Amino acid sequence: MNDPRQMTRRSALVLAGAASGSMAAPAAAAPAERSGRRRPADLVLHSGVVWTGDRRDSIAAAVAVRGSRIVAVGDDSRVLRWAGRGTRVIDLKGAFVAPGLRDQHTHLIQTAVEGAAAQAYRPVFVPHDEQAAFESRRQVGQRHVDIHARGETPVDRTTHSPVTEKLKNDLLVMQEEVARLGLSTVVEAGLRDMGALDALFQLADEGRLKVRFLVRVAWGAIEEAARMGLRTGVGNEWVKVLGVKMYSDGWLGPRTAALREPYADDPYGFPRGGILFLEQRRADRDVARARELGFNITTHAIGDRGLKTMMAAYEANHVTPRDRWSVEHVQVAGDDLLARMIHRGVIASIQLSFATSDQHFAENALGRDRLRLAYRWRDMMRAGLPMVGGSDFAIEVLDPLWGLQRVVTRTEFDGTPPGGWLPDQRLDIRTALRLISSQAAFASFEEHERGTIEPGNYADLLVVRENLLRMPADEIAGATRLMTITNGRITSEAPVSHRPVPS
Ligand SMILES: [Zn+2]
Repeated sequence: MNDPRQMTRRSALVLAGAASGSMAAPAAAAPAERSGRRRPADLVLHSGVVWTGDRRDSIAAAVAVRGSRIVAVGDDSRVLRWAGRGTRVIDLKGAFVAPGLRDQHTHLIQTAVEGAAAQAYRPVFVPHDEQAAFESRRQVGQRHVDIHARGETPVDRTTHSPVTEKLKNDLLVMQEEVARLGLSTVVEAGLRDMGALDALFQLADEGRLKVRFLVRVAWGAIEEAARMGLRTGVGNEWVKVLGVKMYSDGWLGPRTAALREPYADDPYGFPRGGILFLEQRRADRDVARARELGFNITTHAIGDRGLKTMMAAYEANHVTPRDRWSVEHVQVAGDDLLARMIHRGVIASIQLSFATSDQHFAENALGRDRLRLAYRWRDMMRAGLPMVGGSDFAIEVLDPLWGLQRVVTRTEFDGTPPGGWLPDQRLDIRTALRLISSQAAFASFEEHERGTIEPGNYADLLVVRENLLRMPADEIAGATRLMTITNGRITSEAPVSHRPVPS
């Protein structure tokens, strides 16, 4: 097995573009077949740097996949024994392999329902334009004021589109882009259209899905979803209901996130303490109903008053770490609130790109003193708060490499601010990768079979040309994806790189 000439032959076959298939070196096929008990792998990746993402932070060189599962991880000689007739053997030539990436907070399905073109999912770097940003924040804030005036939250109104070929095609266009960007699993944070879920289940039945969709239904659709027989865990390998998304307060930019103390400034004339969509009584009642119907719960809560209200509602409903309920965003949080989350095992679902984007208004909104409560990812990690990462596409770009660079450097691609915004709160690359692999699997009750590269787990893998653990942090966003694998299927195989240059 260690004969170097044999290795060269394999590599040559791969380079020539031949799926090694029947041309695989017969000598290599022998051991797997001789053993009699063990069928050969369908796919072997070797001569790479495989970061398994497990607790021990292990590095291997090769991984073998059979069907939808990983069957071996280790050094080349051991794993190559799994190659046989029909095995596709790929020489990674030193490329880096990570667990298939997961995005715990997207609005991909909702975007596809609106008929977005492929281009809409690709990242574009638009340098900050304060005048345009000011106006768009004002519009969002006005929308929040209007929704609140009607006694609603932003996730109360829902629809049920008919399942059409166009809808299915729009979903397929979207998933093609998601796979290209290296993602294996995406969470929909509040689906308002149950027809889109029908369409996804149809596509799964037809064998046409290549990205895994975990769906949180918007609060307003929960009763309908329950009547459809849905609850947390219902679904299959490709589409599964994860739970419900509720919505407690507004956003920080428009000054509508609900704060314990008033905003430090007042650029728009909205209520000075922000907007709390879910008053305590309704929050308590909605959480109780979601639990009764069997839905795992997450709630949008950006300001500390929104977070406090939701923690009180979770506590009133006896949340324990076994529930794995979470809170989205958690952008302003004092130690007391973090301690309550830790005590109850409530997960902080943070967005990798928010700190770099929000540097333009956070200090004005909160005042200098309160910045120590803001976007404190490292404090949360050190305190032992369970955390998970996402993009919040289409608010931010979907590309996970762009998010990784931003959360690791806390510096925008145009270099602002030099040294990073609130740089004490930067995360190291391993921690950041875990937020969108093993930790995300945990938050979705899948850590026993996904999120790390280990034998027995589903084969969800990402191959990147550069070593993400060692490359300069300010170049991560431009790294080149070579291959995405989900449930053992190669779902993208062209080099994909999006270096952020100002558009
Ligand atoms: Zn969102």
